[in-house]
Amino acid sequence: MSARPKKSFGQHFLHDTRYIDDIVRAIAPKADDTLVEIGPGEGALTLPLLAAAGTLTAIELDTDLIPALMARAAPVGLLTLLQADVLKVDFGALARERGGAPLRIAGNLPYYISSPILFHCIAHATAIRDMHFMLQKEVVDRMAAAPGSKVYGRLSVMLQLACHVVPLFEVPPAAFRPPPKVDSAVVRLVPRAAHELPAVDAEMLQQLVKAAFGQRRKTLGNALRGVLDATAIRTVGIDPQARAEALAPADFVRLAQQYAALRTA
Ligand code: SAM
Repeated sequence: MSARPKKSFGQHFLHDTRYIDDIVRAIAPKADDTLVEIGPGEGALTLPLLAAAGTLTAIELDTDLIPALMARAAPVGLLTLLQADVLKVDFGALARERGGAPLRIAGNLPYYISSPILFHCIAHATAIRDMHFMLQKEVVDRMAAAPGSKVYGRLSVMLQLACHVVPLFEVPPAAFRPPPKVDSAVVRLVPRAAHELPAVDAEMLQQLVKAAFGQRRKTLGNALRGVLDATAIRTVGIDPQARAEALAPADFVRLAQQYAALRTA
C-alpha cells in the first residue's frame, strides 16, 4: 500500500493523522449521508469516512490504486469505486442513482485540475449539499477573496455567487507524501439555496466575468469592449472607469443581466 505516487495524477497522499482527523471532524459524516470522495488515492480519507458513514462512492482516475483500496475498504464498509475522470461524472445523475438526496462531496483534490473540478461542481450545485476540499492555500485565498483584494478574480466571483465559501484550516507540505511545493488549506463550500442564486443565465455570467477579469488592469469600459458599452454599464449603476476587481459579485450579476437583455433585444 505504498505505490510510487504519480506526479501526472497530482498524487500527494495525506499521512498525518492529525489533519486527517481534522478533515473528517469538519465533514462530520452521518450514517445516512450520501458521501462522494474525489480522488481517494490510497484511502487516507476514504477509510475513516467509510467507517463513519457505512457507505461511500469514490471516483478515482488511477486504475493502479483501485484493487488495494477495495481490499482495504472491504472490512470497513460498502465502498463503490468509480474508475473515472471526475470531470466526466454527472453529479445530478449520481445523486439520483444514490436515492435522490443531495451529495456530500469531499476530497484532497489533484491540484493540477482543481479549478476545473470546482467549476464542474458548481455547475452541478443543485445536486450537492456541501463540499469539503483540500486545495492549494493560494486557491482557497482566491476563492474567499473580497473585492479590492489582489487575489480577487473570476474564481472568487463565480464561487461566491454559487456557494458560501468557508476557509477552515491550513495544512503544511509535511502532512503529505511526497510533500507538495505549496501550502494547502481545507475549505467548505455550501451551495446557495435557490432563492439566493442570481437570476441570470449561467453561461452569460461566465462570459461576462471572464471578459471583465481578462485584462485586469483595464477599466471595465475597455475590458468589456464588444460585450457591453459604457452606456450599458452606467445603466446598471456601475462606473465604466472602475476596474473589475473593485466590483462586488452582485455587480457582475447586474452586468450579466444587462448583457443578456441586450443580446435578446
Ligand atoms: N485522497 C488521497 C489522500 O488524501 O491521500 C489522495 C489525494 S491526491 C492529492 C489526488 C487523487 O486524485 C489521486 O489519487 C489521483 O490519482 C486522483 N485523481 C487525479 N486526477 C483525477 C481525476 N481527473 N478524476 C478522479 N481522480 C483523480
